[in-house]
Amino acid sequence: MTQAPITQDVLTIPRAAAAGLPNLVGLTRAQMAGALAEFTPPKQVKMRVNQVWQWLYHWGVRDFDAMTNLAKGYRAELAARFVIALPEVMTRQVSADGTRKYLIRIAGGHEVETVYIPEEGRGTLCISSQVGCTLTCSFCHTGTQKLVRNLTAAEIVGQVMLARDDLGEWPEPGVGTGEAGPRLLSNIVLMGMGEPLYNFENVRDGMKIVMDNEGIALGRRRITLSTSGVVPEIARTAEEIGCLLAVSFHATTDAVRDVLVPINKRWNIETLLDALREYPKATNSERITFEYVMLDGVNDTDADAHRLVGLLDGIPAKVNLIPFNEWPGAPYKRSSNNRIRAFATILMQAGYASPIRTPRGEDIMAACGQLKSETERARKSRREIAAEAGL
Ligand code: SAH
Ligand code: SF4
Repeated sequence: MTQAPITQDVLTIPRAAAAGLPNLVGLTRAQMAGALAEFTPPKQVKMRVNQVWQWLYHWGVRDFDAMTNLAKGYRAELAARFVIALPEVMTRQVSADGTRKYLIRIAGGHEVETVYIPEEGRGTLCISSQVGCTLTCSFCHTGTQKLVRNLTAAEIVGQVMLARDDLGEWPEPGVGTGEAGPRLLSNIVLMGMGEPLYNFENVRDGMKIVMDNEGIALGRRRITLSTSGVVPEIARTAEEIGCLLAVSFHATTDAVRDVLVPINKRWNIETLLDALREYPKATNSERITFEYVMLDGVNDTDADAHRLVGLLDGIPAKVNLIPFNEWPGAPYKRSSNNRIRAFATILMQAGYASPIRTPRGEDIMAACGQLKSETERARKSRREIAAEAGL
């Protein structure tokens, strides 16, 4: 079989030079109202927020002059006071399987990766929440990159907007509604670089914008946030974001999880499971996804599968088995297909859906756990950063 070629192109999309003006992208409705209130009559603020909001997030407009239901003078006022700025797409690689990986440059010259995975009748965007990660999971490529900084809400929602640009998915102004047919970008997973719950406020604000019905309007059930197990933020995730939850579980004993997911030393398996049991949205229709990376000879025995079944007792859960994706220098090997299937069978016999995640975009290093950008943090040590993150 001949494989479709991998393509890579360098995109140079001109963006509004920041010019020191505040960015409208990434503001919550309340923040935007505050910003517009400085020059808008109080009675009109709510209406103006609605109008600008729809232009930005429903129509995908980037130019104040295109906001045709606003008076010319008001548009000029907006242009003098604000910018509409997105991060920049530096390169886009397209895998033989259609997966697209974007290298995105954010303020300060740092870079993160965003991955679009097309599927039958839908498509998932995997977005990053931090440049690098403070955590050091031993099987994760991102974990070898020191944390540089948290992404802002604008940079988080910006990844969704850039992907919609590339997919041509904004409705044509004044013509389409954008709701014809299935969406190309129908789901979001916070499973890119970084630990989203160590950047809670910005992730929350970015996702609120994405969910807002007068904009991109992706329902909360179409968003899945994956955490390595930042226990104190789990209840807040349910209350303040309301999206689906996935947990990087990966081991069935504290001894093994301490090595694979070192945050386990802070919040162990029992503490994590207690928090998940309380996750208010954890009903049968909104099960928690337990991600479990299959590492040859490390966490993949029948005994592990049986122990996992025992641990999940009482939690509406499904298990997502992830064949380990290798990266240069990785200290693990992927479990064999037979081993993964045997593991899945034990879970299924115990009543747990346990799909095996098909690796996507491996040829462009876009698969789970392969993301890493060249950006390295300059001064602080990992210990200092960990202290700042409350670790
Ligand atoms: N920091 C969050 C979000 C990243 S999600 C978290 O850890 O949950 C990325 C998922 O891919 C996590 O479940 C992670 O454990 C998993 N992963 C990391 N490296 C991987 C690798 N090399 N192969 C397969 N999965 C990996
Ligand atoms: Fe960070 Fe998640 Fe990778 Fe762990 S698996 S190092 S938490 S990105």
